[in-house]
Amino acid sequence: MRRKLAAGNWKMNGTSAALSELEALARNFPSSDIDILICPPATLLHRAAGIVRETSVSVGGQDCHAAASGAHTGDISADMLVDAGASAVIVGHSERREDHGEQNETVRAKASAAMGAGIKAIVCVGESLEQRETSKTLDVIADQIEGSIPDQSTGDNLVVAYEPIWAIGTGKVPSLSDIQEVHDFIRTLLDQRFGKETAESVPLLYGGSVKPDNASDIFGVPNVDGALVGGASLKASDFSDIVKALEAA
Ligand code: PEP
Repeated sequence: MRRKLAAGNWKMNGTSAALSELEALARNFPSSDIDILICPPATLLHRAAGIVRETSVSVGGQDCHAAASGAHTGDISADMLVDAGASAVIVGHSERREDHGEQNETVRAKASAAMGAGIKAIVCVGESLEQRETSKTLDVIADQIEGSIPDQSTGDNLVVAYEPIWAIGTGKVPSLSDIQEVHDFIRTLLDQRFGKETAESVPLLYGGSVKPDNASDIFGVPNVDGALVGGASLKASDFSDIVKALEAA
């Protein structure tokens, strides 16, 4: 059966001092039945990996390049993330799609590189407010799932995060039935493409303004296997409460 995952995305936040939050989180979860992941800025990744060693927390990257190495100034390859201690990488976050013009094809190549390097690809999909208001959500999700997820995906190397763009960092959250509609839809799309066994084994995360006070309700939604958390992952106390809500779900 698929595992639950609480994943934190620190984005471009945190210098050395922020590692004390990771130390506190690791102290809170020496062991757990669920997977716990923090994706700090790349500058902290190697030290972060040392902090969480032999706890139930692991660390990941926020992006990777599709190539293994080469003339790509400023970029980081999946192999480099592995070398720094990562077990997963977020690809296709809406901030990458928007700020860096990443299209599905690029996201798919990055996810493929991550899988090839032996780490999980957390592939993000999600609609804009305008797309939701014009009833295009499911079309957008279908297009992103089809275009961004590589053929070699399995329950061991793929995680899908549904992140409505309008819910990220805004405090707005879709209704529980809207979350369920999209998660059910993603599961069906995975079933059609990869078959039932694989589809049932891929964790589906919800992301967008998950906080300690709404986490339990969201984790009660069928086909929600965890969360991708931005702002509330920066404080160990808030993220620990979200992890506990997922453990209890
Ligand atoms: C995110 O960045 O993926 C995210 C979901 O952010 P927040 O939790 O702050 O909305």
